[in-house]
Amino acid sequence: MPHIPAREAARHLIAEALRLTDSTPNEDPIFISIDVEWGGFLPKDHSEYRKLTEIGLAILDARDVRGIAPGRNVCNWMRKARAKHFLAKGCEEIESDAVDNTGRPLYAANNFEFGNSIIVEREALGEAVAKEMRIPDDDLNQQIREDEAQSPRYRKVILVAQGWGNESKWLKDAVGLDVDAVGIEAIADTIRIHAETWDPKPGLTRMMEEYGCLVRYRHNGANDAVYTLAVLLIGALWRQALAGIQKGDWELMNEVFPLCHIRGEEAIQALKDAVTEEMGGRCTVCERYGHLEDGCEKNVDEDEQESEASTIEQAMKEEGPSWIATAKMLEIHMGGHAVVRLRTSAAPLKEQ
Ligand SMILES: [Zn+2]
Repeated sequence: MPHIPAREAARHLIAEALRLTDSTPNEDPIFISIDVEWGGFLPKDHSEYRKLTEIGLAILDARDVRGIAPGRNVCNWMRKARAKHFLAKGCEEIESDAVDNTGRPLYAANNFEFGNSIIVEREALGEAVAKEMRIPDDDLNQQIREDEAQSPRYRKVILVAQGWGNESKWLKDAVGLDVDAVGIEAIADTIRIHAETWDPKPGLTRMMEEYGCLVRYRHNGANDAVYTLAVLLIGALWRQALAGIQKGDWELMNEVFPLCHIRGEEAIQALKDAVTEEMGGRCTVCERYGHLEDGCEKNVDEDEQESEASTIEQAMKEEGPSWIATAKMLEIHMGGHAVVRLRTSAAPLKEQ
């Protein structure tokens, strides 16, 4: 069982891994924030009732932020994070108006904010996530490559979760993901880390509000994983900055939280901007990444377009010129390029 340190030890572990303390870590870890969603809110006769529906990850490699100043509201570090949203096949079509005790929808699988969702068969979820957690250490493996007796090395992972007990039960029981087998170094439970005497079990929404983050689409597994990571980083920097000013050193506070003001939303927006840049834009109509609003076919992704087009090509071969009507229809929906592609691959047309 990986180590789950108590509050002070966990705070130190995180601060040290981020090189905020005087001591240096033996090895720069990768933070993997994880959140699981399940169909506990669905009616009893629903096919997904009490089943695991989503697993979200937010990943930050401490090597990527080493030597980089955190920037205002930790923006420079958050833009180095990446999120993955694994959605069990079939769960993208759930309809539910169930809400949590703050009135926020409990079903937000279609509102992943930091990338595009990956749809996976439920049985394959555990393996998909385990793969993300077992990261070969390329730097080290390069060095030991000559010595064939040595087995490949993997990166040290600190798993981050808001309430680890619930998450671990789901991961083990529902998808067979055993963190012992994956080789996790430690688990940072953010409920413990953010606990204060006046609030021993702080919820994620409350922490987000305290740190100035907009609570837009909670209960999407990957959004919650990102929010958990953002709050973890902001909290670590804030504690460090406070400790600094108590000793008369305002440098970190002035740099990260000017006027002692936390605006966590800036960090979350910085990550969205980085993903937008990397994926070639974000559509304002469907909010997916990788295309702009021009000619947006909401709910039609590239794979679906591809298979739709190849079905048409197949029909063309079998049925001859009757494809023209379909191509015209496609032209309206997809723009001219699809039709050009169909024409170039079509057999020569006979005279009508
Ligand atoms: Zn779109």
